[in-house]
Amino acid sequence: MNKTCPCGSQKALAQCCMPYITNHSAPTAEVLMRSRYTAFTLHLADYLFQTTSLAERRFTSKREILEWAQQNTWLKLEVLASTAQTVTFKAYFLDAKGQAQVHHEKSTFKEVHGKWYYVKGKLEP
Ligand SMILES: [Zn+2]
Repeated sequence: MNKTCPCGSQKALAQCCMPYITNHSAPTAEVLMRSRYTAFTLHLADYLFQTTSLAERRFTSKREILEWAQQNTWLKLEVLASTAQTVTFKAYFLDAKGQAQVHHEKSTFKEVHGKWYYVKGKLEP
């Protein structure tokens, strides 16, 4: 399959986010963030749940993740800034009513035993 990766890298999905999704092996916070966006577009709630930090999982349900992923049409990801542990991005999507929306978030990530996890996100104005 030669599908272009939804994360905006211009690479093929199979050479970009998919290996990270399959192996939970993203090497940096930004790569994890991009692969999580791609997982949203592909409705891969297992990966989104598994890459959420353990402490946060009790506030998150896989079902809610899946519903959020499915009810929106994901258009585009823009990574605006990243550091070792944070990524600021805009995700463009159409909501369930077909209205264009922008999700602007600064996410925090942490590495545990060589794997990166999403800790929390703060909405940016
Ligand atoms: Zn990608």
